[in-house]
Amino acid sequence: MSVLTTSASVEALPFYSPSGAECVLFDHAYRNRLPVLLKGPTGCGKTRFVAHMAARLGRPLYTVSCHDDLTAADLTGRYLLKGGETVWVDGPLTRAIREGAIVYLDEVVEARKDVTVVLHPVTDDRRILPLERTGELLEAAPGFMLVVSYNPGYQNILKTLKPSTRQRFVAIEFGFPDPDAEAAIVARESGLPKERCMPLVRVANALRDLKGQDLEEGASTRLLVYAATLIRDGVKPDVALEAAVLQPLTDDPEVMKALARVADIAL
Ligand code: ADP
Repeated sequence: MSVLTTSASVEALPFYSPSGAECVLFDHAYRNRLPVLLKGPTGCGKTRFVAHMAARLGRPLYTVSCHDDLTAADLTGRYLLKGGETVWVDGPLTRAIREGAIVYLDEVVEARKDVTVVLHPVTDDRRILPLERTGELLEAAPGFMLVVSYNPGYQNILKTLKPSTRQRFVAIEFGFPDPDAEAAIVARESGLPKERCMPLVRVANALRDLKGQDLEEGASTRLLVYAATLIRDGVKPDVALEAAVLQPLTDDPEVMKALARVADIAL
């Protein structure tokens, strides 16, 4: 079985810079046992937010990056052969339900359809998980919380959440932080002084304005952190920008030229 989880014990508070009421909202959802859906583009801080909130709430966190081969059994568990014996091994969802942990399914729309079947009873107020293979009916321990994310920017009609699924979640929308806050985040994450991060944020915002025209996705905060890290390490800003921001955005040479022009003007 592929390694699907990064299980984290409760550790030091990961840095997260809020841009609205998301921390308060998440806290209310947690205390009222409501599942949460995070919507937003890639690299805008959703995963960091969940790590921050899990640590703040003192809950262990299981993170699953969903992909198109991910099945319900990958989440619930399966029988495996161990030393000649067949033993049941819990998946991350089952573990979180038993332990009262937070489980975060990143890009949940990527997963196979049978995943929604296990999520439905978990998200309603019964908070149960029937495990057909073991005959168990698990009730979620206090502290259990389901968090999922998806990126509405990928306009794929086949890969969207059905209303019957999305209407089971409190949804929080994420966008990119305002320029000053984003420069502070990039500075803190990379170690490059904030005033040297400002031009990178300007470029990112100019590129984000091209989204939908030449680009499927705008430049993420994650990419800015990469660029700033390279610059802090001595790479020239234009070289760092091309390697860490422009090249990951497109493979099309014409679009690349247009992006380079936009970046040049903004820098
Ligand atoms: P997503 O899950 O939305 O794809 P991540 O949470 O992995 O994005 O964010 C990518 C990186 O960007 C993080 O590792 C962190 O360095 C930085 N980042 C983005 N937004 C924030 C934020 N609000 N506070 C702190 N770091 C952030």
